[in-house]
Amino acid sequence: MHKLLITIDGPAGAGKTTASKRLSDRLGYRYIDTGALYRGVALEVKDRGINHNDDAALEKMCKSLNLKFVLNEKGTRLLSDGKDITDQIRTPEMSMLASAVSAKSIVRKRLLNIQQDMAREKGAVFEGRDMGTVVFPGADVKFFLDASVKTRALRRYKELEGKTSQTLEDVERDIRQRDENDSTRALAPLKPAPDAIRVDSTDLAIDDVVELMFGHITKVIG
Ligand code: C5P
Repeated sequence: MHKLLITIDGPAGAGKTTASKRLSDRLGYRYIDTGALYRGVALEVKDRGINHNDDAALEKMCKSLNLKFVLNEKGTRLLSDGKDITDQIRTPEMSMLASAVSAKSIVRKRLLNIQQDMAREKGAVFEGRDMGTVVFPGADVKFFLDASVKTRALRRYKELEGKTSQTLEDVERDIRQRDENDSTRALAPLKPAPDAIRVDSTDLAIDDVVELMFGHITKVIG
């Protein structure tokens, strides 16, 4: 069967990860979470003690960056120089630092190459902010998944519960800040591609979101 390249863009907490995982499982496709790559860069910046506004230091770091996804018994894991960093990148601090480093052109250029390399084989769902606009403008099916900020904050708060001391208000503040950073930056801002199918998940259960997307995909597969 003809394999597709599918993109899902949207802000934090819209349901991209769950939808991408379910769709890729159902289709037998690979699933690539590009936000994890930006988080991986953020962790490197922190671990190497780099000031994220120091472009020369960022450039040097990007040259030796070695991020790779592997599939093992724990699922898909992100390795940096062979070290599993999957759990370490899921903190509120890394969310904010990822958003800051993602505005830097040197970082975006480096990750653009990594992401396009990963798509040499079709049959993949790529999740991110600029998948349908910049990284894969020729993707076969593009979605833009959104939801109200209150709904997204509550979802993220439930995911983080027990893992951080953040209150719901803290989570909402961070999400609003990231929305602002990601959608107003000069490079590859968060926005729907003109040909993206827009889905609002505010009042939809994730099962309904997946069904709706799957319906669009099967039409394209034919
Ligand atoms: O998707 P996630 O919330 O893990 O992404 C973390 C941050 O990485 C986002 O807030 C955004 O700044 C950045 N990002 C990006 N482009 C992507 C994916 C993520 O700029 N394709």
